[in-house]
Amino acid sequence: MSKAMEKLKMQLWSYQKKRMSEEEMKNKPFLHTYNQKLERQVMEPSEIQVIVEDLVKPNTKNTTEVLEIRNVCRHRLITAIRCPLCGKILHLDKRWNAFLCNNGHELFRWDIVAVKYHGEIYVKG
Ligand SMILES: [Zn+2]
Repeated sequence: MSKAMEKLKMQLWSYQKKRMSEEEMKNKPFLHTYNQKLERQVMEPSEIQVIVEDLVKPNTKNTTEVLEIRNVCRHRLITAIRCPLCGKILHLDKRWNAFLCNNGHELFRWDIVAVKYHGEIYVKG
């Protein structure tokens, strides 16, 4: 393979990799996907609340607390919340990019649809 071809292949590969990670980021509850300001200003999980919803079940919108925020890929990711129905600590499920719970109730797959911060509501963009 020529040098130029090799270079092109490498560029293509890194472009695809970047694209995939941006796509993946959009599906996970990163603070900046709700609002850039949140990522800079939120220091502690207790500063925010989230509005969660099981997107396949009607009328399941609930507000709940955030228990853990971690730094992932140089961004702030919500990794644990409290189940609004039973109070159990839920960790982010990597396969669903949601918070799963069936503790004493039917299975819910909570998606964070908005973040509440200082009285403002930031919907996922
Ligand atoms: Zn629950």
